[in-house]
Amino acid sequence: MAKVERLALIGLGLIGGSLSLALKKNELVGEVVGYSRQLPTRLRALELGLIDRPADSVAEAVRGADVVFIATPVQAMGSVFQAMATALEPHALVTDGGSVKGSVVAAAKAALPCAQWAQFVPGHPIAGTERSGPDAAFASLFVDHRVILTPLPENSAALVARAVALWESVGAVVEQMAVQHHDHVLAATSHLPHLAAFGMVSALSRLEERYEVFRYAAGGFRDFTRIASSDPQMWRDICVANRDELLPMLDHYLDELLRLRHLIDAGDSAGIERLFVDAKAVREALYQPAQAHPD
Ligand code: NAP
Repeated sequence: MAKVERLALIGLGLIGGSLSLALKKNELVGEVVGYSRQLPTRLRALELGLIDRPADSVAEAVRGADVVFIATPVQAMGSVFQAMATALEPHALVTDGGSVKGSVVAAAKAALPCAQWAQFVPGHPIAGTERSGPDAAFASLFVDHRVILTPLPENSAALVARAVALWESVGAVVEQMAVQHHDHVLAATSHLPHLAAFGMVSALSRLEERYEVFRYAAGGFRDFTRIASSDPQMWRDICVANRDELLPMLDHYLDELLRLRHLIDAGDSAGIERLFVDAKAVREALYQPAQAHPD
């Protein structure tokens, strides 16, 4: 990949910070100029070496940049697009890491003039942790992880190729799909599991005997609910932004839980076992069987 002369990073947390660290580690970026909402976050990002220079506004950060990467929560992206419109260089690639694509594409279309709209190649790295903020960033986050790009019909092939090269340069495996298809698939594989984890912890915490219940929580509970430690604001935004895909997926899951409830209620042990055998086979086809576990 041709070296990025100046990267404008909008949002200085896990995703934005990790892209910057990876490009820096591979000596693929000249200067990183960063903006985030709060001054302490910008100063911390500077201190950690995620950015070389903090900017006081989105416009100041994108001026002179050949690549702009937006890594704020998705609901904030509309205001970011609006703020960059006057300062964006005509040759700049604009891309993002938002977990939902439909709402981000709509926000970009509403905020950017026609010519700049064509400069935006939407993206989503399928990599992350439950930690957030500048201190959570690390250079190897994207290595061997998928990044989904959802190019727009208005994007030139050369611009999409630049976005692909950017992600490949930090070790990611890039795939492309349509915006709506992305939101449908990710509602199933990422958004629904987060709802299940948040919902599980919330449900147990409302039990009268919760203190005793949590005292006996073992590894299985910890594994299942790890992602309920993710950033609440980010997941609030994702639920709101991907409502149309998430609600049918949630209903599908609730139907399955009701099916299980019915089997248990009916004492249908063969039916329960069949459901578990099928689910175990699917999981083991996806991942190596887990080590023996105490619970
Ligand atoms: P994060 O660690 O919480 O970082 C978000 C950054 O955005 C912070 O620097 C925050 O700055 C800044 N920010 C918030 N509101 C802003 C605004 N209105 N204007 C400018 N900056 C603002 O979040 P993240 O995990 O990096 O996620 C960033 C994006 O990547 C999200 O869209 C998320 O959906 C997506 N994503 C996340 C994961 C994951 O596992 N975490 C995985 C894939 C994609 P302040 O501290 O200054 O407010």
